[in-house]
Amino acid sequence: SREWHLIARPEGWPTPDDFALRTVPVKTPEEGEVLVHNLFMSVDPYMRGRMNDVKSYVPPFQLDRPMDGGAVGIVVASRAEGLEPGDHVLHGLGWREYATLPAKRTQPIDPELAPLSAYLGVLGMPGLTAYAGLVRVAEMKEGDTVFVSGAAGAVGSLVGQIARLKGAARVIGSAGSDAKVQALTETYGFHAAFNYKEGDVSRQLADAAPDGIDVYFDNVGGDHLEAAISRLNLHGRIAVCGMISQYNEVTPPAAPRNLAMLIGKRITMRGMLVADHQDLQPQFVQELSAWLRTGDLTYQETVEQGIENAVDAFLGLMRGQNIGKMIVATDAR
Ligand code: NDP
Repeated sequence: SREWHLIARPEGWPTPDDFALRTVPVKTPEEGEVLVHNLFMSVDPYMRGRMNDVKSYVPPFQLDRPMDGGAVGIVVASRAEGLEPGDHVLHGLGWREYATLPAKRTQPIDPELAPLSAYLGVLGMPGLTAYAGLVRVAEMKEGDTVFVSGAAGAVGSLVGQIARLKGAARVIGSAGSDAKVQALTETYGFHAAFNYKEGDVSRQLADAAPDGIDVYFDNVGGDHLEAAISRLNLHGRIAVCGMISQYNEVTPPAAPRNLAMLIGKRITMRGMLVADHQDLQPQFVQELSAWLRTGDLTYQETVEQGIENAVDAFLGLMRGQNIGKMIVATDAR
């Protein structure tokens, strides 16, 4: 079985030399364990933080050890009650072709209900992040104007659509290419969108939101956060979900220069972690699957073929080569 190891801690942007694809023997399952053949694995922005040797909300990757992350696969051997060969599961040992782990650390999934990769995206962690972040953390209300950055990505594309379906008056998104901006308005039903690489974010946001914004869903940080603070209305809310613009920076940028505006405008700014919102999972799956069935909500995936291309997929994600969720089909042949 092949698996990816982190072999050096990147300073700034990671390079392929920081990783190695190694072949190891497949571990036979012991009592209570299953052997899973991974079919899809997830690459996510938070994994960049795990490449640094710093204490955070998820422990750092260990050097010369397999990396891990979300994956879905098929059980090929089982010594656990309740799981049979042929069953499909979601689990946390991605970045490898075969995973041996306790059955209780897997979650059965139904391939009839949705394509397997959807459990890593629209119906999985990024979907719940979008839903909980918008509904609970930002307390979006009907009639709000909502701005989301990273809007063509896994989380952002869902934030915009959920906002529209929950009665936002106006949904605005920013993304890093003209093709993505076009997808926002034409495929995802955003009211307005702009390419942040093509001009000043503040000016473009002001043009898109002449009456200001009520909610900012932050995936990016930096200039986007500063622009949003300037544009937020009285009692505006910010869900701080991610700050991808600084994940590969050796020195993070200075804070937004206009933070003092939080005072006069009584702005609420709340950080969020998806893990705190698992209780919303049933409600979220129910609402999203209904919208998927009626066609009110749609999603895209960018699928890289082959475990050997997983690092390229991760680097591509950080560079914006994905539209929708970035997925690796580990088993491509
Ligand atoms: P995406 O699918 O959105 O992929 C990342 C995207 O970020 C890229 O496609 C790229 O799109 C954009 N990007 C990269 N660099 C920059 C930059 N300098 N400025 C602006 N945009 C940039 O990833 P996810 O949907 O998985 O994650 C989105 C955000 O949500 C991330 O910040 C992530 O860390 C966060 N997150 C937080 C969670 C939590 O619990 N708090 C859980 C899950 C995700 P473009 O072409 O537009 O630049």
